[in-house]
Amino acid sequence: MIIVDADVVVVGAGPVGGLAARQLARKGYSVLLLEEHPEVGRPVHCAGLIGIEGLKDNGLFPQSNVILQHVRRSIFYSPSGTQLVFDKGEPHAFVLNRDRLDQQIADEAVNAGATLQLETRVTKCQRTQKGVRVNLREQGVKRELLTRFVVNAEGIRAKLAHDQGLPRPKKHYMLPALQYEVVNVSLPLDTVHLFFNTQIAKDFFSWIIPLDNNRARVGLATAHKQARKALDKFLRQCSLLTGAKIKERFGGIVYTGGPSSRTINERFINLGDAAGQTKATTGGGVVSGGSCAILAALCISRALRDDFYDHRELIRYEGLWKRGWGRQLRLMAILRRLVNTLSNNELDHLFMNLQTGKAREIIERSGDIDYQGRLITAALTSPALIGSALKLLLKKIRFFPHILWG
Ligand SMILES: Cc1cc2nc3c(=O)[nH]c(=O)nc-3n(C[C@H](O)[C@H](O)[C@H](O)COP(=O)(O)OP(=O)(O)OC[C@H]3O[C@@H](n4cnc5c(N)ncnc54)[C@H](O)[C@@H]3O)c2cc1C
Repeated sequence: MIIVDADVVVVGAGPVGGLAARQLARKGYSVLLLEEHPEVGRPVHCAGLIGIEGLKDNGLFPQSNVILQHVRRSIFYSPSGTQLVFDKGEPHAFVLNRDRLDQQIADEAVNAGATLQLETRVTKCQRTQKGVRVNLREQGVKRELLTRFVVNAEGIRAKLAHDQGLPRPKKHYMLPALQYEVVNVSLPLDTVHLFFNTQIAKDFFSWIIPLDNNRARVGLATAHKQARKALDKFLRQCSLLTGAKIKERFGGIVYTGGPSSRTINERFINLGDAAGQTKATTGGGVVSGGSCAILAALCISRALRDDFYDHRELIRYEGLWKRGWGRQLRLMAILRRLVNTLSNNELDHLFMNLQTGKAREIIERSGDIDYQGRLITAALTSPALIGSALKLLLKKIRFFPHILWG
């Protein structure tokens, strides 16, 4: 029997790595969760808007100090100000403290038996006959350890995934994002606001998410490189933010490119943002990446059973996540690319069409912040929505290959 330092090394204590570590530790494997930063969840780069159903499906029940608000309504604004109001009638999403959520997940992993090691950066993973040799920098000091399996949840940079010959998120679809926490605003607490305007947030949107009676998160992602200039302009122009004062700034990368085609290698699995398991429509990746982490943990635990490594279980995982999330994520990426071809005038026109009773009803009934595949499927089987969508697609026919295949 080969002596290893841990059955599984998980790279990155973001939500996806934390969930994989928690699930594997619960199965009784020895798990080392490695995080390069001195604190889990920091720096924060997230709006913290996460669907309640998706969290529940991932076995995640945010503690009361993690939840800031319950969201019931979303208002979408067209460039000229047409509003689409969607009211689910009950809370369907939380506004969360993302750093605390990541910490809660890491705590759950540790309580299940995983070892969390901070200020430890993984620099290289090399397969050997005995397992995987992992090179680290622990508080600046180089070290090496041996593991039976590596779960890579290193986030959007995906350097280790690239070293393994796996596809990494495409640069072209990485949008610079910026978010301010502002004070001196007063907005209904159960409502989030999303603004579509190609001159401010090209290829994405800007958002306002209330935190309490005085504070809100205001942010955007944009294909124009100058996110700061765009966000400052939005802050000046948006009437809901008159008098708002910036308290804190956060940056990050929003990914809209769709999922990677290959996520497994011998004794190595690539998960979360690193594998493009992010919704191209909204940039959200906590629930989709987290679901894939849970599936992965199940297959890894089977692959490592009885001191034997069975690669067929990983091939099974690749099929499972692609059937479950892969299709939805690809549909969302197609929808994102289609919307990206629209001018401000066309966006206004689309909003007018969607204001009809039938379209709104379908969106309110089937729309879910995480499981958007349901809405897309409902739309594709509704003659009312299919009619407007087809008209739009035919207008955009010259973009077809680009829309469908990225
Ligand atoms: C502005 C913005 C707003 C967003 N808003 C939302 C939202 O409202 N809802 C939502 O669901 N998603 C949102 N997202 C997306 C969400 O943040 C990501 O999808 C999610 O964090 C992906 O989780 P992850 O664990 O894959 O990666 P990450 O959260 O990026 O975690 C990766 C971790 O790995 C660590 N790491 C990296 N390399 C190494 C290494 N070599 N060794 C050790 N540690 C390493 C990093 O320090 C990090 O802690 C937003 C993103 C941005 C930029």
